Amino acid sequence: MKIEFFGATKEVTGSKFLLSSDDTKILVECGLFQGKRKETEKKNREFLFSIEDIDYMLLSHAHIDHSGNIPNLVKNGFSKNIYTTPPTVDLLKYLLLDSAYIHERDAEYVNKKIIKKGESPIEPLYTSEDAERSLTLLKPKTYGNKHEESITFEFFNAGHILGSAEILMEVEGKKVLFTGDLGRSNLPIIKDPEVPGKVDILIMESTYGDRLHRSIENAKADLEEILKRAIKRRSKVIIPSFALERAQEVIYAVNSLIINGRIPEIPIYVDSPLTVEITGVFMKHPEYFDREAYRMLRENHIFNYGQISYIKDVEQSKALNYKEGPMIIISASGMCEHGRILHHLKNSIEDERNIVLIVGYQAKNTLGRKLVEKQEEVNIFGQPYKRKAEVFILNEFSAHADRNDLINFVEGVSPEHIFLVHGEEDQMEPLGARLREKGYKVDMPEIPGTSYEV
Ligand SMILES: [Zn+2]
Ligand SMILES: [Zn+2]
Repeated sequence: MKIEFFGATKEVTGSKFLLSSDDTKILVECGLFQGKRKETEKKNREFLFSIEDIDYMLLSHAHIDHSGNIPNLVKNGFSKNIYTTPPTVDLLKYLLLDSAYIHERDAEYVNKKIIKKGESPIEPLYTSEDAERSLTLLKPKTYGNKHEESITFEFFNAGHILGSAEILMEVEGKKVLFTGDLGRSNLPIIKDPEVPGKVDILIMESTYGDRLHRSIENAKADLEEILKRAIKRRSKVIIPSFALERAQEVIYAVNSLIINGRIPEIPIYVDSPLTVEITGVFMKHPEYFDREAYRMLRENHIFNYGQISYIKDVEQSKALNYKEGPMIIISASGMCEHGRILHHLKNSIEDERNIVLIVGYQAKNTLGRKLVEKQEEVNIFGQPYKRKAEVFILNEFSAHADRNDLINFVEGVSPEHIFLVHGEEDQMEPLGARLREKGYKVDMPEIPGTSYEV
């Protein structure tokens, strides 16, 4: 069989590979390359393989770096089935449409500038109609059942986000396992990653191939301290968060502290329409929760407990500016680049009683990164603001396996041949070197289109 890598090759985004044997061709993932427009535009618009030859597609999870170019694939003629898990199907209903909306607004913005220069306008990468058509191709398949198409495939829980899967494919008598993104043990809400047993070929992510995370327990203890301080000082605690998974984990962690009597009740405002919809998808799939979260959902309605409010309406969002703390505001975007989080930061950042709590990765050059660096002055909507609010960083909610988790996983499936993907060079190379020292055969495809006979 042949495996060809078309994305996430020595980088984190754009996951996409083709698996072909004599009688079938399967596309696994169709992720968006994310980053600066100049660098990603062409890579996202053009496919380096023939779309007509593909028999069907398999998808590990809903994150846009794995699913976000499906509407463009459909726009370019793809009309076959896409197999993925039931929660992923539900999550994509919101995420692909949200992504299409962003691409449409983006093209409008670019066109305003280039039309003035007399250049011809650009088309969005894809539109809401392309996203809608993509949704009709999604076919839900549950974990733990073998599905027969041109090959046999099976989804295992990857413990990364709701509905995330490892994909085990049996081709020409060989077992090929793709990890998708691999989570870590003890993440709030979702179950721990599964190890499917011995395989022949492993295609594994390596986002944190050279890093070790602190335990989740540390994060919970820190969160408790921060919230106690906030309640005492009547702070507004502003939490920028991605709509999917991190937001629900934070809601769950805060409510666990309240329910277990560790902190008094505090109003929580979830101020992001997408986060509200995604939280609804979580509530629809409690069978994917770990035992503790499942019990809490049944007894206390984790996502509806106490003084929690879900806000979609813009006026209600603005009204939060005039409310007195203590309170928690969870809002998007996760890196403070756009969205309602900017209004909340603008409104709260110059008061030293307030707290900005960073719970996710902040890329270079984003406002989120400037907050992580605790810069004394930051620009919001083009105006300078003195940053007087305290900034705390809790990285432990990371939904990715660290170095030890990845090595343990490899030892659990003892493959003959490993391909590392989905990692920057500084994380992937040291992991590859460690695995080679242990005697494993490791390849790290670098150029999109690289092909291997296995
Ligand atoms: Zn992911
Ligand atoms: Zn990913």
